[in-house]
This record gives sequence, structure tokens and C-alpha cells, in this order.
Amino acid sequence: MFSTGSGSSTSLGRLFIFEVTGLRRNGGEVSSPLRQSGPSSIKVPYDRMSQMMRQIQQMGGKILSIKPVGDAVAAMSADSSAPQATAQAAAAPKSKKAESKVPVNIYRPKDPFVGKCLSNEELVREGGTGTVKHLKFDLSGGDLHYLEGQSIGIIPDGTDKDGKPHKLRLYSIASTRHGDDLNDKTVSLCVRKLEYNHPETGELVEGVCSTFLCNLEPGAGVKITGPVGKEMLLPDDPEANIVMMATGTGIAPFRAFLWRMFKENNPDYQFKGLAWLFFGCAYTGNILYKEDLEAMQSQYPENFKLTYAISREQQNAAGGKMYIQDRIAENADELWKLVQQENTHTYICGLKGMEGGIDEGMSKAAAKNGVDWSSYVRDLKKAHRWHVETY
Ligand code: FAD
Repeated sequence: MFSTGSGSSTSLGRLFIFEVTGLRRNGGEVSSPLRQSGPSSIKVPYDRMSQMMRQIQQMGGKILSIKPVGDAVAAMSADSSAPQATAQAAAAPKSKKAESKVPVNIYRPKDPFVGKCLSNEELVREGGTGTVKHLKFDLSGGDLHYLEGQSIGIIPDGTDKDGKPHKLRLYSIASTRHGDDLNDKTVSLCVRKLEYNHPETGELVEGVCSTFLCNLEPGAGVKITGPVGKEMLLPDDPEANIVMMATGTGIAPFRAFLWRMFKENNPDYQFKGLAWLFFGCAYTGNILYKEDLEAMQSQYPENFKLTYAISREQQNAAGGKMYIQDRIAENADELWKLVQQENTHTYICGLKGMEGGIDEGMSKAAAKNGVDWSSYVRDLKKAHRWHVETY
């Protein structure tokens, strides 16, 4: 077995084994460890995986599998402070058949899986409002697996005012099927703490489950059900165009999509289409996962468009607050061209009510072309190309 790269990554415990076949003898660099034919195993540090994949491709090789080295897995799950998927990395490929199988209700409320909170990080930055947390849970020892776009249920600890156990609340999964640690053993959420003033008493009310989650300490156990949901699944086709419209935590499923497209470098899903994210929030400090989004955008400018609508800081054409529907209106002609393509899927996720403005913008663009948007969008929904999950 060959090993490549510096030893520094080894200290991070991030090593993967590539099983490769069909490498041409004369391809690649002179010093390449890949200069051989027949199946071979190559040990690759986490930070050199993309480079290695390109090298294998250039040499006509085929990757049969990518597996984390046993020690690395243990180290990765223990090291909750490690940067989560900030570098490109690959995960073990799964067959197409397995991908099209959608897991549902593996764990039900009567017998939930108890996961462990591995990390709980604030996502709102300076100048932003409210509390939004990125939470990662350990799924070791269970059978909970999921696909991008699905949700899980959380049953908060404690009882309601009648002394009964709390009911579950649904949360969109914010990680890819491989999890933030790429070991298929974690699931992540993006949770806003619900806080409002009681309409009659004016008293501050905190949401039961969102507060429970936002206050979780690493190490705490959490009752998880699911996964559920087939509405927001990402198509298998890596050449599809994926238009995403999110407000606030509505970004959760799109984080999973984008990580799958641009961060994981999965051998079985090399994204070549166009991903376009519209993200709406109040302040710049509320742009969730901002650094990651902008890094992906500058790394893949041909494949990823990023459009913000920051209501309290930007103005729309009429001088009013800039909401997501204003950005849709500004880009309606381009979006209209896109949605007509058979390989375009549009996803809307976040605050209830955001759909109206989006429909308005699209209606105008469709009308310019003599098309009635309401019947057009009905057909898009029937064709499973217009996906909505608002709450
Ligand atoms: P609760 O204690 O259940 O309180 C909620 C209730 O408070 C409301 O039903 C309403 O009666 C009342 N209320 C709320 N706001 C006000 C107000 N301004 N004035 C008066 N009364 C009010 N949330 C996320 O943070 N991230 C996600 O990714 C996410 N994904 C979801 C996916 C799906 C499919 C669905 C259905 C919901 C999702 N949610 C998500 C919402 C989540 O399920 C919870 O509804 C949310 O966290 C609030 O739950 P809670 O227990 O904190 O609030």
C-alpha cells in the first residue's frame, strides 16, 4: 500500500484509503505513487483527497472505493473540535440503487434513537439578531441513516403543562448523508431559538424544543426519530440545475445539497450543473454559513451562484426593504429560462409565506411569455421539479 502527502494530516487522524484500478503506467507525475497498473490501495490524507482524485482521473484510473482508515474514524468522531467539512473530502460511494431508496421512520416516537450532542455552535455573527445553532449529533450504535433534504424529529426532554412527555418537532437535516465528519455516523441541524412576546401578557416566551436544542451541552443525549420527508430530495443527476430559495434556517437542506455538490467530491456525484442559492435574512450577521458559502462560490463560480436579500441593509428597486421575492423579481427572466429546462429543480424552504412573493415574481416573468404561472407551477410540482417546505 502506498501513502502520499505529508505526515501532518496523520496527526489530525484524517486518512482515507482509495482502492483504485486501471491506472495507466505512463500517466501522471514522475514521482507519483500511482504509477502502476492493477488494483491498488493508496493511503491519502484528508487534505490531499481532491488532488489525488484528479491525478487518478488524469491517469485513466477508476476509484473502486474510498474508506476512512479505522484509526482515523475513531479520531474523527472523538475530535469534535475539528473543522467540520471545511476542506474538500470524499466519502465512500454508494450504488445508484441504494441512493434511490429513501429511508423513512427508522426510529419512531415510541422508541426513539438516543443520539449524543457532539457540538453546538452559534451561527449568528456580530450585528445579527437572535440565536441560531449548528448542532451535530453522534449516531453511533444505531441504524439512523438519511438522505439530503430529509428531516428528523426531536423529542425534547421534560413534560408539557399536562405532565405528558413533549411531542416531537421536525428539523431539516443540515448535513449530507455522510455527516459533517464524513463517517456516516453523525447528523447535523440548524436551529433557530424561538422567542416571542406573548400577544396578551407581553411576557417573553421561549419555544420548547428549539430552546432545548439551542441550550444543549456537548455530551447530552437527545431523542431522535425519523428520518422523514421525500419532498426535498436532491435528484441523482449531477448535471441538474438546482435553484434554492431560503430564508433563515430554511438554508438547512441546502447546506446539505451544497456540501454534497462542492465539498465532498463524491466519486458517484460529481456535480456539473448550476446551483443557485437565494438566501434572505435581516442583517449580514444573520447570513448562515456565510464563509463556507462564499468560499464555494469563489471556488466554483461557473457552477454556484449566490444571491443574498438582506432586508434591513439592502434596498429593492422601489427603495423598500430587500426581501427574497425582490431578488426573484430582479432575476425572474433568467429564472424563467432556467425553470423551463427539464433538468431544473427548484426548492423553497424557510418561513411560511415566502412562497407568495416568489410566485408573484415568477408570474410576471411567465406572463411576459404568455404563460399562466399558476398552472405552470402546478405542472412543475406534478413533475417533482418544484419543491416546497415551509414552516
Ligand atoms: P413551541 O414551544 O412549539 O412554540 C411554537 C408555538 O408558539 C407556535 O405553534 C405558535 O403557537 C406560538 N408562536 C410562535 N411564534 C409566535 C408569535 N410570534 N406570536 C405568538 N405565538 C407564537 N426549525 C428550525 O429552527 N430549523 C429547521 O431546520 C426546521 N426545520 C423544519 C422542518 C419541517 C418539515 C418543519 C415542519 C418544521 C421545521 N422547523 C425548523 C420548525 C420546528 O419544527 C419548530 O416548529 C420550531 O423549532 C419551534 O418549536 P418550539 O418547540 O421551539 O416552539
